[in-house]
Amino acid sequence: MEFSSKLLENAVYEMSQLPSIGKRTALRLVLHLLQQPKEQTDRLAFALQNLRSEIKHCKNCFNISDLEVCEICSNPMRNRKVICVVEDIRDVMAIESTGQFKGNYHVLGGIISPMDGVGPSDLYIEPLVDKVKKGEVEELIFALSASMEGDTTNFYIFKQLEGVEIKVSTIARGISVGDELQYADEVTLGRSILNRIPFEQSLKG
Ligand SMILES: [Zn+2]
Repeated sequence: MEFSSKLLENAVYEMSQLPSIGKRTALRLVLHLLQQPKEQTDRLAFALQNLRSEIKHCKNCFNISDLEVCEICSNPMRNRKVICVVEDIRDVMAIESTGQFKGNYHVLGGIISPMDGVGPSDLYIEPLVDKVKKGEVEELIFALSASMEGDTTNFYIFKQLEGVEIKVSTIARGISVGDELQYADEVTLGRSILNRIPFEQSLKG
């Protein structure tokens, strides 16, 4: 791509660093921004900068939050002893939208994936295991994607908790294998949380 402007080229380059945005799409988006009132671009730039400088991870569940402790964790109406283990904030949003879960979450920040170089120490697994070992949790509900990586992660955490008195369950797989949690419809997802099964039972299946 030949650019007559270095400024344009830079903006297109940065835009094209986003996932699934090729050079052509990047150019289209940048030209679109140029046609908008300047305030629009300023708001976008400010929102992104502000996001990066102000965003926090909840000290308790590691979800993305504006506060030190997120609104879910600080809500006294929610059951802190039941923890749903998820990969990222999209899963929290999906499960929250079902309105069927009144416990807390623990956000791992990913799943174990040797192919992508993600090991247990890259994730928030240790704080979860600590929380459980301190006796603060009665039930863990695994709600990771039904993939090999999701299964590996479930099993790894399960193994870490060997000998600990705790109920471990997994969401019922009304969701077909390979489906990402965040794409499951609300009714199916809500039902699968309510109809969760003991984790050990899922291993035999
Ligand atoms: Zn939290």
